Amino acid sequence: MKLYRLITLLAASAVIAISCEKKSEMDKFIDDLMEKMTLEEKLGQLNLPSCPSEIVTGNEKCENILENIRAGKVGAILNTYGYDNIMPYQKAAVEESRLRIPLLTGLDVIHGHKTVFPIPLGLAATWNPEAIEEAARLAALESTADGINWTYNPMVDITRDPRWGRCAEGAGEDPYLGGVVAQAMVRGYQGTPEELYNGNERMLACVKHFALYGGAASGLDYTEVDMSPARMFNEYLPPYKAAIDAGVGSIMTSFNDVNGMPSTANKWLFTEVLRNQWGFDGFVVSDYNAVGELIRHRVAADKVEAGVAAFNAGLDMDMVTASCLELEAAVKDGRVSMETINRACRNVLEAKYKLGLFENPYKHLDKSLSERIYTDESRAIARKVSAESFVLLKNDGALPLKKSGTVALVGPLADQGAQYVGTWTGAAFKEYPSLLDAFKQVEGIKVLHARGSNFEEDAKLEEKLSYRYEYKRDNRPEAQMIAEAVAAARKADVVVAAVGECGYGAGESTSRTNLNLPGCQRRLLEALAKTGKPVVMVLFSGRPMTIAWEDQNMDAILEAWHGGSETGAALADVLFGDTNPSGKITMTFPYTIGQVPIYYNHKSNPRPVKPGRKSFSRYSSNWIDSPMEPLYPFGYGLSYTSFEFSEPVLSDTLMVNKAAVKASVTVTNTGSYDGAEVVQLYIRDVVTPNYTRPVKELKGFKKVFIKAGESVTVDFDITPEMLSWYEVDQYNMSGSSKPLSAKLVLEPGDFMIMAGPNSRDTKETKLTVK
Ligand code: BGC
Repeated sequence: MKLYRLITLLAASAVIAISCEKKSEMDKFIDDLMEKMTLEEKLGQLNLPSCPSEIVTGNEKCENILENIRAGKVGAILNTYGYDNIMPYQKAAVEESRLRIPLLTGLDVIHGHKTVFPIPLGLAATWNPEAIEEAARLAALESTADGINWTYNPMVDITRDPRWGRCAEGAGEDPYLGGVVAQAMVRGYQGTPEELYNGNERMLACVKHFALYGGAASGLDYTEVDMSPARMFNEYLPPYKAAIDAGVGSIMTSFNDVNGMPSTANKWLFTEVLRNQWGFDGFVVSDYNAVGELIRHRVAADKVEAGVAAFNAGLDMDMVTASCLELEAAVKDGRVSMETINRACRNVLEAKYKLGLFENPYKHLDKSLSERIYTDESRAIARKVSAESFVLLKNDGALPLKKSGTVALVGPLADQGAQYVGTWTGAAFKEYPSLLDAFKQVEGIKVLHARGSNFEEDAKLEEKLSYRYEYKRDNRPEAQMIAEAVAAARKADVVVAAVGECGYGAGESTSRTNLNLPGCQRRLLEALAKTGKPVVMVLFSGRPMTIAWEDQNMDAILEAWHGGSETGAALADVLFGDTNPSGKITMTFPYTIGQVPIYYNHKSNPRPVKPGRKSFSRYSSNWIDSPMEPLYPFGYGLSYTSFEFSEPVLSDTLMVNKAAVKASVTVTNTGSYDGAEVVQLYIRDVVTPNYTRPVKELKGFKKVFIKAGESVTVDFDITPEMLSWYEVDQYNMSGSSKPLSAKLVLEPGDFMIMAGPNSRDTKETKLTVK
């Protein structure tokens, strides 16, 4: 209470629970505050150091954080959480610095806090925006109870390259789906402006990594991206824009070079596109030491030059490099204008204001809030979402399992619950229930457990990859481990093999050149297949893997991603048929790694081969040594039941005067289980004289629950916006001259309207736009 008064006193104008929509009050408050600030204090607000803690998200270290806070040289902190850890920092800012400006407290709360949801690639596979919003809301509820008020999520980088380990953190390859997921997450974290301002259960979100990070060459982390602006605007930028349209409060730069200028110093991106074209009004933060890395990109000679370039490009807050603390001389000699520093400082202060921190800087710092963490209720929701994220990739009838007889449970992931939470789980517990624990709860079955294989043959690599969650390696010879698993299999009616990547085997800095299961795991599966017993493979991974052999030789395959803290129980729900799987992959699974990048929304091929062609065809566009098709297409996923789709029926075959046309698709559950299906709507612009367009693009989807034997008709409004695309002048090869910016165009003509259960098996009808 005492502090509350201090702040309001300082603020001159008391701010009592107002909505941040009341912009003029906010402006007045910040004007008054900034009038009191020295240049040094303004630069201090732009500084974001990483606190020493067990959460490490980069190699660069920061020192003297408390002293700097007291001196007014820190605007925010990251990488620590919990009342005891955060309180000293916030106290130093609010009670010991001259202007008592509270800190933003940031953490990568990417898919949960202590209750962990599936990795974002798994969340996207639910195709359920309400569930994703709820996951983000619960992540906010728990992490704010631990003193965090700012998360570095949603990560919306479109990627077509599973070699890039960070595909685990995003929604996959599709711009439309990516935008829907981004908006659901922003809503879940931030709530309404009133909830953000008045309550203590929501947090500021940060969309990242702007821009195009998922296009990193060769799937190698941190590398360059060189991309035509037309591709950017149509295929890679939409999810960032969607997050901005949803009101995300901050945005993070990316590490990569974008067409010759690293994102962090890229004025075109941060000033022209972000502010001028999209009207973003939050603040821009750099990624971890990304300002310092401008030196390694060789666009700056030293830290000051790097800071000058970044802030002039549009940066508002510097994560870790602290270049801002060295910019006084550059401001005085005009290399950075005072206007630029004022802009950055104001943007940061506005975020604090919108969070209600000037009103109550301690609103997330209250020990009793810990009751909100890891509750039975949140865990029950996580279990449901986790089950919904699993994707049934193959089923020859081995699933669902019977709740009788003997099950052999094998594989390196069978008893390793902590590995299921996956990447970016710095605040998670060290232990969670495993699949083995869950199987032991299933009444009526006998479980035989044998590990059968380690993650990797190379113990040192395994240690580096299992990283935060210790994995106790089995040091017996491989043959002995396999023999034990085979013996268990022989005594069982069915085998469940839990294989794949360990928790931190995907995520930042985990690029791979080979997407097969490691040799030791594959040899285990080969031995199991030879027993003749049905083998169900449960694949844990943070990315698509190349599993063509497994597709041929396993009886069923369930993709489990890293499904979060409740994965074990959720897997039991799905494997034993209490929950019917309904997930769909949001990244194409390649047949072989040489096909990468492979994605459904590619351009039309001028020399195509027939789908499914068996042999090589000269002077056609095809591989000598691989099928053209992926193993599983975008949007694919099976169910224990079967669904039949009608052709889409249009309310009118002509679109006139930009009036929406209704497309109706009837889906029938033709099997014997109740289940949910994702009805996917794709569109193709048939002829586009000025610029080639993809063969099909996802433009809508609805997930519907259909009882066995029943039908449901799903309606979509086809709007002119869904048929439009960004035309970018310098890539307009038709020779016509248009203004030099991206603009949405709708060309009259024919459009194919397609619907189906995935991007491959669609039925279509024609719409003509007048
Ligand atoms: C990652 C970001 C993350 C940041 C802070 C960086 O290494 O690229 O995604 O938000 O660290 O932890």
